[in-house]
Amino acid sequence: MLLLVLGHSWLLRRRRRSALVAVPLALVLLVAAAGIGEARQPARPERATPVDAAEFTAASTALLARRAGAVLTRDRAAWRADLDPHDQQFLARQERVFDALVQLRFDSWRYELLGRNYTVPALASRYGATPYVLPGVLLHYALRGYDPAPVARAQILTLARRDGRWLLSADSDVDELLPPAGHADPWDRRAVAIGQGRHSLVLADERDRDHLDDLVRTADEAVERVTCLWPMGWRRKVVVVAVRDQQLLETYFRLPEADSRDVGAITVRAFDDVPGWSQRPAPEPAQPPSRVIVNPRFFDPDNAQNLDLLTHEIAHVATLPTVGVGTPEWLVEGIAEYAAYRTYDSDELDPVQVSRELRAEAVAGSVALSTTGFYSGAVSDHYTAGWLACRLIEQRVGERGLRTFFARFRSTMRVYDAVPAQEAALQAVLGLSSAEFEQALATYTVQHAAVDEQG
Ligand SMILES: [Zn+2]
Repeated sequence: MLLLVLGHSWLLRRRRRSALVAVPLALVLLVAAAGIGEARQPARPERATPVDAAEFTAASTALLARRAGAVLTRDRAAWRADLDPHDQQFLARQERVFDALVQLRFDSWRYELLGRNYTVPALASRYGATPYVLPGVLLHYALRGYDPAPVARAQILTLARRDGRWLLSADSDVDELLPPAGHADPWDRRAVAIGQGRHSLVLADERDRDHLDDLVRTADEAVERVTCLWPMGWRRKVVVVAVRDQQLLETYFRLPEADSRDVGAITVRAFDDVPGWSQRPAPEPAQPPSRVIVNPRFFDPDNAQNLDLLTHEIAHVATLPTVGVGTPEWLVEGIAEYAAYRTYDSDELDPVQVSRELRAEAVAGSVALSTTGFYSGAVSDHYTAGWLACRLIEQRVGERGLRTFFARFRSTMRVYDAVPAQEAALQAVLGLSSAEFEQALATYTVQHAAVDEQG
């Protein structure tokens, strides 16, 4: 029986520059307005010594440069030297972070001070008269061999001045104000085990270390499966995150309409800018960095379906450079489903289990495809219809034709061009109008699908 791979967060990418940032940005601006050295400490007997802004900027810039150098040269003593020794738990977490970072190779690792500082009155009791500042920072890094361009991660650090020296005292005092992916790389939150394959870098949970080799093999095999369908136009290097930390995944779901409960894994593009944080957009790389993130809610390292799940997600990685803003969502998901199941025999796949509603739609003579709005409503049906549509295209014009069809949307840069672009692509590749294709899909669905009585 076929279990359809669950959804992913393509919509987050689409909405990234609009709705996604609205709420966090508002919070950020409110807090940021207070500015440096103006910490309000109501009813506190001690007041922090005022901070010399120029001195703080110079000292924190130097501290962050040393910290970056410690990562790049894997110099643990240098990493430790700028840590505030007052909080043993923080020191232990920083050791764990460094333990992970030394297992990785970076082309770059640098911090950008944004010149914006946060005020958290609740911290006043912790620091008393000790001056402290919470600067907003962007970490820019690139994993060697995997990130073709740097990725940016927002952080809010806590620096305290003790005995005339600024030290890093905390890195998560106000993580709740961070945008998606802020301070949420796997090493930030967990002890990680890192495995390197031919095509994949797997960041797994330390507790799954015994499964690491299997995970790497599975990820490599998924890359090779995708390559058979999509041989050109991508680097075949994939970063897979499989740590058992729900919060890490939830950072991508800071939207009221998005929910991780129905999501097996997500593929997210990584950017070198953060809306509301970066001064200007980063250049668009031809090959965008990305992360495949497995949802710990469902993750079982022994599950035989992990190969299909990763194949689906890695198909998104492969097609990412070819996706235009107006690429129909049914096609983006349908080709990922197609990639996951293309090696199965038809008697293993068919009859595809579908809902009564989808079957009824097919029997009535036309199956509607979700060009936009794929991720709301009857999402499971949308996945099935998209997958069957890609199978139908392959049946008519082969996999080369399917790739040609997909690539036609590459230059469709506006969402509202998606429908006319789809009309033109169907005519050019299949000689059908959209209405005719949806009728053909209905016939195909009737032939290949049966009602899922348990669904
Ligand atoms: Zn997907």
